Amino acid sequence: MTTTYHDLLGGEFWHAIPAYEEIDEATFLDHLWQQRHSVKTPEELVETIRELASPEFIRDVELGFHRAPMAVRVSPYAIALVDWNHPYDDPIRRQFIPVASALLPDHPRLVLDSLHEQADSPVPGLVHRYVDKALFLPIAVCPVYCRFCTRSYAIGPDTENVDKVELAKTPKQWHDVFAYIASRPELEDIVISGGDAYQLPPKNLELIGNALLDIPHVRRMRFATKGPAIMPMKLLTDEAWVDALTHIVDRGRSMGKDVVLHTHFNAPEEITEITQRAMRVLFGRGIFVRNQSVLIRGVNDEPERMQLLVRRLGYLNVHPYYVYMHDMVKGVEDLRTTIQTAVDIEKFVRGSTAGFNTPTFVCDAPGGGGKRDVHSYEHYDRENGIAVYTAPSVKRGRAFIYFDPIDRLSPAAQERWHNECVAQEMIHEALARAGVRDESLVPA
Ligand SMILES: *Cc1c(COP(=O)(O)O)cnc(C)c1O
Ligand code: SF4
Repeated sequence: MTTTYHDLLGGEFWHAIPAYEEIDEATFLDHLWQQRHSVKTPEELVETIRELASPEFIRDVELGFHRAPMAVRVSPYAIALVDWNHPYDDPIRRQFIPVASALLPDHPRLVLDSLHEQADSPVPGLVHRYVDKALFLPIAVCPVYCRFCTRSYAIGPDTENVDKVELAKTPKQWHDVFAYIASRPELEDIVISGGDAYQLPPKNLELIGNALLDIPHVRRMRFATKGPAIMPMKLLTDEAWVDALTHIVDRGRSMGKDVVLHTHFNAPEEITEITQRAMRVLFGRGIFVRNQSVLIRGVNDEPERMQLLVRRLGYLNVHPYYVYMHDMVKGVEDLRTTIQTAVDIEKFVRGSTAGFNTPTFVCDAPGGGGKRDVHSYEHYDRENGIAVYTAPSVKRGRAFIYFDPIDRLSPAAQERWHNECVAQEMIHEALARAGVRDESLVPA
């Protein structure tokens, strides 16, 4: 591989979009302008890209909006990164803008909350699944909505297909979460996600950060955000937000506690010269950044593209931490890929750069098993796309199954999934080969 990972998109690239032709750099870098001009409806999209897309594509998008489990919201920055000459294949379009013609039927075993987060939630807005760490969901809105969101059961406004579950969205509800964390001395590590920490006003960011730092047994915190990937300019122009984050990081450091930022870059195209400048701000302030990606079909599921993403992240001092198997969420079967793909890409990427800049590929085991190294399956039936995992330190004695998307299987295997009895038999067989004797230990 050459140094193409250095070659970041620069200049006023947004001028290629009719609606942004007249927008100067200062305006484009203004995070409030980005928020105000985010696209939320098919009409707004048409207005923005006008003659760039064909009427057939626009029609396809309109139908896609109606059938999607997630609301739509795309920043001008992301719109400007789409190659509108090839919108169907574009990795940015695929993540945020649904088209009806690409949708596939769901796998018969898919559910809305595939990770059983609601079952592991002792108070609204907190998922306590692992011994020493918990996931706090203080907000249900994001600067963009990702089609593949694992929390489509809760995130964003209701859609035609999903009434969203309530998260803890108010400071009063947050206090119940803080009280729970304070009552559990084993909780050392809190992930603050959502929703998205980018949308927390600076005073709430500080309120949450300080409340958690004040709990003596909390040693580590991470704020998770998709923001830098789709609106990096906020880190350049929202000084109050960056200052609030810096205050918490600095205060944590003075207490011997670790506070970091977790980003969510998926496509190498999301990283531009604007991103580079933005990440320099965080680096300059001593804020450590890790990245979590989702392995998504048509976005980063080719070895060279994942390698490019990983090298670009390392180049910006962002540590690639995880690449997740796409969760088994409904309505986005066209974005999932197989366990075998993850195993192959991992093999290709490992060895191309520093080990600490090489992500671990994980499958967040459906049914609440937590994250497992993709390679660590007890049994993997590649023909029928059934991988069985166990998680001895998370849910002892239980087994968890990940199903590959059916359209990626052989025609004969696809046929088998259409027969419920045969499907049951295949799952039974895979569990037996994995050494699972008691099937009551497999979450439905
Ligand atoms: C991902 C996750 C965490 C953090 O796990 P790490 O492997 O430490 O990144 C904590 N709680 C829940 C529920 C999670 O999904
Ligand atoms: S930013 Fe995160 S929480 Fe928000 S829609 Fe995307 S994946 Fe879901």
